Amino acid sequence: MSAPLTSRVTFDHRFARDLPEMAVPWQAESAPEPRLLALDESLAEQLGLDPAFLRSPAGLALLTGTAVPEGATPVAQAYSGHQFGSFNPGLGDGRALLLGELTDTDGQLRDLHLKGSGRTPFARGGDGLAVVGPMLREYLVSEAMHALGVPTTRALAVVATGRDVRRETQLPGAVLARVASSHLRVGSFQFAAASGNRDLLTRLADHAIARHHPSIAGADRPYLALFRAVLSAQAALVARWMLVGFVHGVMNTDNMTVSSETIDYGPCAFLDRFDSSAVFSSIDHGGRYAYANQPLVAEWNLARLAETLLPLIDTDQEQAVKLAVAALEEFRPQYSAAWLAGMKAKLGLPDDVADEIASPLADDVLTLLQDNHVDYTSFFRGLGSVVRGDARPARDQVLDVAGFDAWAERWLALHPDADAMDRVNPVYIPRNHLVEEALTAATAGDLEPLERLHGVLAHPFEERPGLERYAAGAPDDFGAYTTYCGT
Ligand code: AMP
Ligand code: MG
Repeated sequence: MSAPLTSRVTFDHRFARDLPEMAVPWQAESAPEPRLLALDESLAEQLGLDPAFLRSPAGLALLTGTAVPEGATPVAQAYSGHQFGSFNPGLGDGRALLLGELTDTDGQLRDLHLKGSGRTPFARGGDGLAVVGPMLREYLVSEAMHALGVPTTRALAVVATGRDVRRETQLPGAVLARVASSHLRVGSFQFAAASGNRDLLTRLADHAIARHHPSIAGADRPYLALFRAVLSAQAALVARWMLVGFVHGVMNTDNMTVSSETIDYGPCAFLDRFDSSAVFSSIDHGGRYAYANQPLVAEWNLARLAETLLPLIDTDQEQAVKLAVAALEEFRPQYSAAWLAGMKAKLGLPDDVADEIASPLADDVLTLLQDNHVDYTSFFRGLGSVVRGDARPARDQVLDVAGFDAWAERWLALHPDADAMDRVNPVYIPRNHLVEEALTAATAGDLEPLERLHGVLAHPFEERPGLERYAAGAPDDFGAYTTYCGT
């Protein structure tokens, strides 16, 4: 039986204890008028926290970091990172704090972390604050990702602070309480490596192994094994992004976790019409983080991680490089295998269909979608109907009907399973126009559209009557969608 829910919050401080050089004790800024905007009650319960407590004034003080349990020491975490390819040694939590770690009902250690809690020594020119709209956006999109089965950090709560934040205009401020299996980033390893402190780097790697891959602690070459484990998990993660049509938007090395949970929901967006070159971020002019580039960027980031681990992999540098390069070469085949397995599932193909048949079938359907500007999510969902004898939901979306028919004939000959397809092809994703609509209402004080959308996204595969507008593509007048970092 699990422990009873409690208002007594007992944090561990393993990160700060193991890695004091990377943990600056710090306090949150005050929140003049805290008001709860969103709370994931089931996540609270998983953490052993009583939702009724979290709604109370003491709970809101915890969720904004303004009153922490006795003995708890929030810290700002130091990290480095390659931002759009250039190395910045001095990043870190400029507007965030790690309150500490909690043990969840499964016995797993989870970070409770705040975003928007005020300036820290890593704030550089920033104000340390966050805005209601973008924090609720992370709440919505990260929960949608979780419901879609994509590994991700979670959003426990969003609390409006009652303080205005200056962006282009004055906007209401908020703090997001985020839960993650850790906040270790590729950039954390870059920080430790750049410090030249070999002992710190070793402690960081041991900390990562203990938290994320305890079974490799006794491996022959544990640090090479750590790298390979992170690589495999990242290959699987990015394949999931591609399969659900997710564009992360800012895959800097400080935004790539060692746990391989999706992190940093600033400029992300989902594809409407399939477009392999899709970019939404206002600052990604070169398309470095475009949809189709994501596997390549993940591989590039993993190469940066490998570089930091070289001195731990082997004392002979040449040997270390050889081992790391060989490991890195596993990324492409692992990514491709994960992606193709996912595509076979989306197409409902039986396991015994050979990759040589499935692979061109998947490539050809994506070419058809790209050439005909077809809505990615509703097309794949519509394929289930095609199997059941009504081709319209998919076929009617494609201008090149002859092209669709020729492709569908090849595909149907393989006897796809419609019910299996409905379990992996979502009806509901956080469509950009719906997210914007909900955030606009929430910013103006009406939380109803947000709560409704959150409820829809919690069950993405379950088609429900009355929710047709949540399944439909963007209206024609929605136009090009632009997203922003650091909001
Ligand atoms: P991001 O683009 O969200 O990954 O942030 C990159 C870096 O900028 C991190 O070090 C953040 O902590 C920092 N940062 C972003 N926005 C702010 C802000 N408003 N105030 C202080 N630091 C910020
Ligand atoms: Mg970040």
